Amino acid sequence: MKSVLSERAAQLKPSATLAISAKEKELKSQGIDVIGFGAGEPDFPTPPRIREAGKNSLDRGDTFYTPVGGTLELRKAVVRRFSEDYGLEYKPENVVVSCGAKHSLYNIFQAIISQGDEVICIAPYWVSYPEMVALAGGKPVIVQTSEKRMFEPEIEAIASSMTSSTKAIILNYPSNPSGLMYSEKFLNELASLVSKKDLLVISDEIYDKLLFDGKKYTPFATLPGMKSRTITVNGVSKTYAMTGLRIGYLATDSMEVVKATTNIQSQSTSNPSNTAQAAAVEALSGPQGEVSEMRAIFERRRELIIDLINQIPGLSVIKPDGAFYAFVNISNFVGKSGVSGSVDFAQYLLEKHHVACVPGTPFGSDDHIRLSFATNEQIISEGMRRIKTACSEL
Ligand code: PMP
Ligand code: GLU
Repeated sequence: MKSVLSERAAQLKPSATLAISAKEKELKSQGIDVIGFGAGEPDFPTPPRIREAGKNSLDRGDTFYTPVGGTLELRKAVVRRFSEDYGLEYKPENVVVSCGAKHSLYNIFQAIISQGDEVICIAPYWVSYPEMVALAGGKPVIVQTSEKRMFEPEIEAIASSMTSSTKAIILNYPSNPSGLMYSEKFLNELASLVSKKDLLVISDEIYDKLLFDGKKYTPFATLPGMKSRTITVNGVSKTYAMTGLRIGYLATDSMEVVKATTNIQSQSTSNPSNTAQAAAVEALSGPQGEVSEMRAIFERRRELIIDLINQIPGLSVIKPDGAFYAFVNISNFVGKSGVSGSVDFAQYLLEKHHVACVPGTPFGSDDHIRLSFATNEQIISEGMRRIKTACSEL
């Protein structure tokens, strides 16, 4: 029998982050005491006011289809946040709501990529970007960075990765997996470069509200001349601890992109859940106090985990500016006791010491593992104790 799969599907890798979370849950269900540093999702319950809004929506009987790109109320709530938080002015018709920021990104790549178009991804990158670009028929072009430069690329490296097929660049700061920001200098240089080369920028700003040390966020679209060429992606998963409710969105001045992504959605998933949209309206419009409370807790956890990592001989890490990830350099252990890279190292941690983390390879670096600190301080301490033992035994 001929292969049942399309070439596209046959080549697609599963999401490593979700695969680790699934493995972690499976081991826990077998009664194994696994410490989970895998999942990139807040461990907090969704704030009560947001859950209430979802329940009220169901009780009102709002269980019908909504407009494909989201209710007007939700799109207005998104517009209000952009305006109040950053002075970025959009209209509700510039916003398309989807089933998570991941879905918004998927729709964007489907909408903008023709066969062979290139999209620049800066390493280390979130696992899903290259796969989504490839799934749309495009070619991810990876720009390497170094820890010496805090994973910030040289602008020349980006310029020299561009060809006549380059369509867009995808940005994500603070970054999953490093938690690092880019400097204002780099962002401004990039703005000049993309103007000169007439490129689109997709800015995945899902961690914009999880920034530490009192740092202020600069959305890419607020840089001079950038609003018209930036598609901003965000969502409620991380900021409001709503991962399972699946609401994300894009905002863009380009009505072509709005129309194309809405059409794609209309022929695939239709609108995101009506109930989840009602909850997201409350998340974005109601009092924002929980956001800073959760951020403060993440900041304390960052201090703890970074301190504990630094106490382990052989490991090193750059302190993240935001998000809830530590991208830990494990290269000192490569070659020891048969550990050939990050996949082996992560497997060793999981199988021998019952600590789940994501290997760096799917993020574009085999020298690292990613530890998510979206988990409580007791678990962090115990997990790091196990990692210390694991490293000493290699
Ligand atoms: N972008 C980045 C960088 C992420 O880490 C994630 C993971 N949740 C997403 C997008 C997608 O988030 P969601 O689909 O839950 O909105
Ligand atoms: N984005 C999170 C992570 O990187 C959640 C999993 C996913 O959506 O891939 O772990």
